[in-house]
Amino acid sequence: MLELCELLKINVNELLSGERIMAEAYDKRAEENLLAMRREVEEKNRQMLRTEYWIGAPATIAGLVMCAVAAYVEMAVWLRIVLIVFALVMIVAVAFIAVGIEQKAGYYECQNCHHRYIPTYWQTNLAMHMGRTRYMKCPECSKWSWQKKVLSKEKEVQ
Ligand SMILES: [Zn+2]
Repeated sequence: MLELCELLKINVNELLSGERIMAEAYDKRAEENLLAMRREVEEKNRQMLRTEYWIGAPATIAGLVMCAVAAYVEMAVWLRIVLIVFALVMIVAVAFIAVGIEQKAGYYECQNCHHRYIPTYWQTNLAMHMGRTRYMKCPECSKWSWQKKVLSKEKEVQ
């Protein structure tokens, strides 16, 4: 170290403080990168949830319109049946896809211990729900609660 100081024409103190500044700068950079990465993931999850909505809402409306048409417009019975069956199959298929998107985007938070996790597809699909809040069992504390959708695993969301 002394040789190095002599070579650089600085004293040991200067050498050590320089190292400290470098380390601090490195820590700050790492922290910033981590934050940027987290924001990116959150944004991706937000977009996925938007996609869920833009797939689910039009399909539901189209299905309901088809059922209304089948019920009120004059047509052959077989055509009514085809229309209703098609509408129901479409709504169910889209609902399954939408749940898949919702399950993969972000996390659910336990209301008891605030643990955040990703449940399995079927756990998500079969859970009672109000919007995106689902009644599920927490894998951490094993309590049942209405778990809210959150965008990131960390608590402090920007
Ligand atoms: Zn819990």
